[in-house]
Formats: sequence, C-alpha cells, structure tokens
Amino acid sequence: MTKDVPTAWVFCMTNHDLRTMRIALACAQAAADNGETPVGAVVVDSATGEVISSAGNQPIGLNDPTAHAEILALRAAAQKVGNYRLTGLTLVVTLEPCAMCAGAISHARIGRLVFGAEDAKGGAVVHGPRFFEGATCHWRPEVQGGVLAEESSTLLKGFFKARRQTKTNERS
Ligand SMILES: [Zn+2]
Repeated sequence: MTKDVPTAWVFCMTNHDLRTMRIALACAQAAADNGETPVGAVVVDSATGEVISSAGNQPIGLNDPTAHAEILALRAAAQKVGNYRLTGLTLVVTLEPCAMCAGAISHARIGRLVFGAEDAKGGAVVHGPRFFEGATCHWRPEVQGGVLAEESSTLLKGFFKARRQTKTNERS
C-alpha cells in the first residue's frame, strides 16, 4: 500500500481490481517496449472478472492522436459485445484518463472507472477539468483511483528518464 493513496480509495477496491490492473500494467509495459508512452487499459466485466478487451497506448505506431489505451480498449470491447454502449462494464487504466478519454468513457456508459496513478499534468478526472463533475457530463461512472499507482508511475518515470538519456546521447 503506497502512502500517498487516499484511504477512501483503498476501501472501495473490488477483488478483480488488482488482478485486472496487473494486466493493464503488462499492456503499458508492452507499449513502452514499442516506444509509446506506457499506459495500458482493460475493459472487464466486474461481476465475473472476465476480460473483454485490453490495449496499450499506440498513437505513434498507428499515426493516430486518438489512439490512447482507453480509446483502443473501449473500441475493441464495443466490437466484441456488438454494442456501442458498455453499460455496467469496468474500465481499468494505469493512469488517470485525459479529457478525451473521460469523454469516451462517458459516451460508452462505463459503469466503473479504476485508474492507477494520478496525472496532474494531463488528467481530467481528479485534475484539470474534472470531466465527470461537469454540468455537460451526462454519464458519470463510479471512480476508483490509486490502484497499483506506484507501479504505474514507476513505469512512466523510467520511460521518460530513458528517453531523456537517449536524447542527451544523440546530442553529444
Ligand atoms: Zn486519453
């Protein structure tokens, strides 16, 4: 248990959250291996623990600025269940979603959002626009943050550190 996780987060975790977050972290690691920012997302049926879809960040590889892990996982899940609404399903993602992904989560009617590390710079759930609390947001998932947050942020920090070193080496 990391010391910076609010106590309120800790008590709302379900049995599947940790297991599913580990799958999301594996997707994030795979993204990093491909030179993408390490973020991973999984759509899961909370009732059964069945994984519907999983994806890592791929904007660079797909030449697609919208190819965030959450968007790819939502698209794959909707294709799989044959419905543009994923009402009641849970989205588990390693990093606090941005405004675009928060919007997509709301459109998909995701029942529950579980995220790992908070993102003070780009997050839109507990930072910035706090999308789900806005008057123009018409579907608010239940939100659980701080699940394996330290693993997620360690992955991100390691990735950016390695990238800075590569750039420094290229310059020298
Ligand atoms: Zn996003």
